[in-house]
Amino acid sequence: MEIDIQPLISHLRAYPLNTLYPLDFEKSNSTALVDIPNTLTWKNIVACPLEKRTYSNEPTFSLIVAKPSGTALIPRTLTDMAGEHFGIKESTRPFIAFPSHLESMEKGFWFYEHGVLPLIACNPPKLALIHAEKYQSDAFLGSNETARLFMNELPLSIKYAHIIDEIYDPSVFNSFRERGIRTSFTLALPETGSLGNLCQDSATGEKLIFHTTPGTYLELGNRTIVTKLSSLASPVLRYETSIVTKNCSPACLCAFSQSFTLL
Ligand SMILES: [Zn+2]
Repeated sequence: MEIDIQPLISHLRAYPLNTLYPLDFEKSNSTALVDIPNTLTWKNIVACPLEKRTYSNEPTFSLIVAKPSGTALIPRTLTDMAGEHFGIKESTRPFIAFPSHLESMEKGFWFYEHGVLPLIACNPPKLALIHAEKYQSDAFLGSNETARLFMNELPLSIKYAHIIDEIYDPSVFNSFRERGIRTSFTLALPETGSLGNLCQDSATGEKLIFHTTPGTYLELGNRTIVTKLSSLASPVLRYETSIVTKNCSPACLCAFSQSFTLL
């Protein structure tokens, strides 16, 4: 599939002092991904000073992203955070609990920008649960890790769970379902945002199908390469991940252009 990356290249060109993406290709007339030979890695991001890879003049909120190969701040604007495609079902009183408070706040901004006031978990977890009960939270939003931590003690008012993580854990998903809690899942990396949403039609079947989120293009394979077409403060152009994917489009009745499975 050919995608037009010219708007993304124009966005990079608007910040000529930034160095995360080499100037030689920013000045090229590339409009196709195939013309961009290099991939970006986490090491490139870690090695580049924050001010040299922040492609926005708006105020930014920075996520601290720690990986074994290094830690970096990832800048996000309110527009970036609100424009995410998490595929979250209706919730008016979400309870948000990620391992990092910054990540909880980032997802909280998403709800806030969509007209919903979230409750963000605090420490200790017991106290967070007391507040979730008082708030009569209707949904849980968190990672696999926090889902395991909170699952057994969530207030009865919670009828829906949405997991956002870089790994799909069927045991977490099934545990929620056994409790009668509807569950959905978004595959995401903190440095790129959402990559794909689990197809609800496939969630009970043997083969899990993910739909690439709008504004995202994935080069599927042993090291899935991510491109985000929107003008993010932390642009993602051919970012190399360790996620292993395989194309499976068209695989379901949903009218999405790109679908994949995880291997
Ligand atoms: Zn589908």
